[in-house]
Amino acid sequence: MSYPVIRLKKGHDRRLRAGHPWIYSNEIVPPEPPPPPGSLVRVRTAEGKVFGVATYNPHSLIALRVLTRNKDARIGRHFFGVRLERALRLRERLFARPFYRLVHGEADGLPGLVIDRYGEHLVVQLNTAGMERLWPACREALEALLEPASILLRNDSPVRALEGLAEEVRVELGAPPERVRIEENGLPFWAQPRGGQKTGWYYDQRLNRRFVRLLARDQEVLDLYCYGGGFAFNALHAGARTALLVDSSEKALELARANARLQGMEARVTLERAEVFDLIEQLASERRRFGLVMADPPSFVKSKAKLATGLRAYRRLAERCARLVAEGGVLCLSCCSHNVTPEDFRREILRGLKAAGRGSRQLTFAGAAPDHPVHPMLAETAYLKFYAFALD
Ligand code: SAH
Repeated sequence: MSYPVIRLKKGHDRRLRAGHPWIYSNEIVPPEPPPPPGSLVRVRTAEGKVFGVATYNPHSLIALRVLTRNKDARIGRHFFGVRLERALRLRERLFARPFYRLVHGEADGLPGLVIDRYGEHLVVQLNTAGMERLWPACREALEALLEPASILLRNDSPVRALEGLAEEVRVELGAPPERVRIEENGLPFWAQPRGGQKTGWYYDQRLNRRFVRLLARDQEVLDLYCYGGGFAFNALHAGARTALLVDSSEKALELARANARLQGMEARVTLERAEVFDLIEQLASERRRFGLVMADPPSFVKSKAKLATGLRAYRRLAERCARLVAEGGVLCLSCCSHNVTPEDFRREILRGLKAAGRGSRQLTFAGAAPDHPVHPMLAETAYLKFYAFALD
């Protein structure tokens, strides 16, 4: 049995040949009748050459996602076994303990699939119709490779709507725990796969959290948008005197509180439930100053249409935060929106610092940790940006 064929319009194979994994809906000859969403198809160029195997979704702007350039490939348990094992080897080389993003979608050759590993517990996001349909084969390979105690499907990401998929959270295997103890940069943390944000922990900031340790000793620290407190606890571990952690979600603060207990840091930590922009106004009016301020907001630019407003919000955040940084202190700002380039983000930060009347020196720029690899042709997969500035 071979997969149905979808033909590209003339000239639209160039990106594919360069290694790009996507074909947009206006680049294919609409198949009649269309195979069901998520079907495996063979991709044929206008000249009739079969290019490889992809998943197809007529409801998405991204009509085809290429899985392999092997035109005769069968996509099943063996295919997933090979890709998952490659992903696992990379992470095992990077990290001694089994706490990391195991699969990061396209960059690991598995479009639409995200797997975060919390030791023997796995949290999976299926973000495309193709991956949803292939999940049974993927799951078999995953179980054979890792023998996990539990698998939780966190199919509640809003990107599923773009693929015509409903949101759901489902236990696939075992009994996924509410919280699970992980280790990061040598520190213990509670992550929250059930009922927490995204898959339960933001592994992407691991090395940026390690970076802030360099600047933490003897400082008063402000961790804005703290979630489980990853940044603040790294800073405290490195000798920060106190930390004020701020989040608008009570659940996030509960997790941060549990982490304070786990690390025996309660006495040095204050948790505040607040909307960040309100709180920073208040702190400024009280003339509070911090030697290290970190802000890691949710995406302010959820779509390209929101770019201008979102960029202004990043600028305002930089400006308001700068007013809270002590002389000679450090401001670290993150942006997780894939619609914002590193240059855009840096420009807005610099405008904000200027508006606050602060001279500055850039100390670092970084992206996500390497368990979130970047697909060489997909700039979108380099979504995270982290800048640190020392302020005069
Ligand atoms: N810095 C965290 C991750 C932050 S995720 C880490 O290292 O793990 C973004 C956080 O911002 C979430 O916890 C969310 O609850 C919080 N948040 C979203 N909007 C907010 C707002 N307006 N004010 C305060 N917190 C907000």
